[in-house]
Amino acid sequence: MSEDPGPTTAHDPVAAAPVRVAFVALGSNVGDRFEHLQEAARGLAALPSTTIVGCASIFETAPMGAAKFDFLNAVVALKTVVAPLPMLDVLLQLERSRGRARDEKWGPRTLDLDLLAMYGDEGSLAVTHPRLTLPHPEITARDFVLRPLMEIAPSLQVAGHRLDHHLATLPEHARTVRGRHGLPLLERAPFGVSVPLLEGG
Ligand code: ADP
Ligand code: MG
Repeated sequence: MSEDPGPTTAHDPVAAAPVRVAFVALGSNVGDRFEHLQEAARGLAALPSTTIVGCASIFETAPMGAAKFDFLNAVVALKTVVAPLPMLDVLLQLERSRGRARDEKWGPRTLDLDLLAMYGDEGSLAVTHPRLTLPHPEITARDFVLRPLMEIAPSLQVAGHRLDHHLATLPEHARTVRGRHGLPLLERAPFGVSVPLLEGG
């Protein structure tokens, strides 16, 4: 006879799913950039069993590569039961809902949402999948990711070093942040995340 699966959770995949903290980078350089970011953050907050637990300032960033227009960039932290690949699908769907066309690398985009990392009881999730790499391999190479991430998770370690170390060693050409935008991404958003969960990640 098989083991008793225990109460209720066996029939409730949401209740049984592990809660994790996900860090999502948001970027936009076409149209109403602020509205694109705000609607994306609202869309994330509306996911089932998900709360926004950290929300960084919005940064104004010079374009890289072929892009001509300045970006707005931000990072939010979510506590969520949504698993990594379904979360990627949510991000791609939100991009499409803001009219994202996928053409040239670093070209103009209404909305770019990248899953930077996810942390659970097991620490930082390592995912190598044709559609998803976690932690995102470019976290440490971009000041427009490091700076907002540092605001909400200053003790986070990525690739064996703290974020401030990565920022300090970033080459000049990778420093594209012009400054903070000023407007908050979300009203009444919490600032910072529960750091103990992230130690050793
Ligand atoms: P980029 O963000 O590098 O400018 P895109 O937004 O066009 O490029 O994303 C291209 C693909 O990158 C996505 O379709 C997705 O499958 C893949 N990808 C791999 N890892 C990640 C990740 N951690 N977050 C977001 N997308 C990712
Ligand atoms: Mg992307």
